[in-house]
Amino acid sequence: MGKPRSTLGIWLHDAWGLLVPQRCAGCDTALLSHEDCLCDTCLRELPRTHFNNDPLNPVERLFHGKVELASAGALLKFSAHGMVQRILHRIKYKHDREAAMLIGQLMGEELKACRRFDGIDAVIAVPLHPRKERQRGFNQSRLLAEGISKVLPVEPMHRYLQRAECTGTQTRKGRLDRWRNVKQAFELTDPLALRDRHVLLVDDVVTTGATAEACAAAILTAPGARVSLFTAATA
Ligand SMILES: [Zn+2]
Repeated sequence: MGKPRSTLGIWLHDAWGLLVPQRCAGCDTALLSHEDCLCDTCLRELPRTHFNNDPLNPVERLFHGKVELASAGALLKFSAHGMVQRILHRIKYKHDREAAMLIGQLMGEELKACRRFDGIDAVIAVPLHPRKERQRGFNQSRLLAEGISKVLPVEPMHRYLQRAECTGTQTRKGRLDRWRNVKQAFELTDPLALRDRHVLLVDDVVTTGATAEACAAAILTAPGARVSLFTAATA
């Protein structure tokens, strides 16, 4: 992603690179001065889903009959030990803010190009468990949302969706109980604040969709609200 740099800027970047070589988040090779975060090859070869214009795409189908989403999709295809896993790992565990901004901006550009996501005016990241967020110090989905908001005019409204009170130890409970716990694990702090908004719910990866479903159900308790979901990757 080449952004123009001054001669001094290039010199400083390269000098810094000699001291602390910046490495590609996808393949770990040393980056060249015009590259940010991902090398040109990885940027070109990002495994995009190419299905976000399709209302029957696999992410959207996860939610059919469960919760009413306006649209849903994902930017990239996730595969174990693949490039996307390495990038998301770097965002999540190494707090690579630059990588999150880059992926978030790519998500924003994809949303902008897909007519199905028109009209979104607010963004909410799936909240981490407060204990996890304290340990980690940040929420990776919120960083992605920040990248998206550089491209799309969406108002960050993260503070209105929160995890509900912890329901106690889950290890002894059955699968159905655990699912019920997930389903009820989110609530709006002020439903009227989201009245008539079209909220984009953002997460890093969607797998079963249970967490996103619970978040969407909570957001839909706001009168007249709509929800779309977009994730960095889908498994
Ligand atoms: Zn690379």
